[in-house]
Amino acid sequence: MKTIGLLGGMSWESTVTYYQIVNSVVKERLGGLHSARCLLYSVDFQEIEACQSAGDWDKSARLLGVAARALEKGGADFFVICTNTMHKVAPQVQAAVSIPLLHIGDVTAAEILGRGLRTVGLLGTRYTMEENFYCGRLRQQGLEVLIPDAAERALVNEVIFQELCLGQIRAASRKKFQAVLAGLARRGAEGVILGCTEIGMLLRPEDADLPLFDTTLLHATAAANLALAD
Ligand code: GLU
Repeated sequence: MKTIGLLGGMSWESTVTYYQIVNSVVKERLGGLHSARCLLYSVDFQEIEACQSAGDWDKSARLLGVAARALEKGGADFFVICTNTMHKVAPQVQAAVSIPLLHIGDVTAAEILGRGLRTVGLLGTRYTMEENFYCGRLRQQGLEVLIPDAAERALVNEVIFQELCLGQIRAASRKKFQAVLAGLARRGAEGVILGCTEIGMLLRPEDADLPLFDTTLLHATAAANLALAD
């Protein structure tokens, strides 16, 4: 089994889920007392969020580069960045190490295309929804990506940072997210990407009338399967 490097803490609420999933998948596939071989480098999210707000992506890339190097030194065979947003600096972080990065967007696109869908909605932070680093990568792989309107994007972004990253799950916010999902469906979305690693804490498959692609579940499962490959 390969050793997975988890670059997490963004937020730690969702990194807990990554840890549960990689272990569950390994247990399910190997049985007995098997569990995932992994290393976790968990950053101080306040520092990273300050870089995001200030637009200082170079600084955040340096911080994550230091973390990735520590994972490599510790023996990780490959690594995952446990947030969609910080894939904005994935190229710089990848350049800091010689072990490969398993990209969250690629894993997600492969799953959607494998299910025969092409047009999907995207929920995430404002960076993930509005900038090209994420949508562009999905579109390059053949997906049609729809994002919510400006007011809805502001709402989704606020719930992520003011509630979900603080571990607060509110029924009122679930209802608002369901209205956003309905709007995306009306515009032709065949499914919706939960493109923020905390949204799965709020929205479960049964909360939606269309398929949800939970990036945390997909990414962590792909990491466990890659660790078990060969
Ligand atoms: N975990 C979130 C994501 O997947 C947001 C936190 C962050 O800004 O990194 O994008």
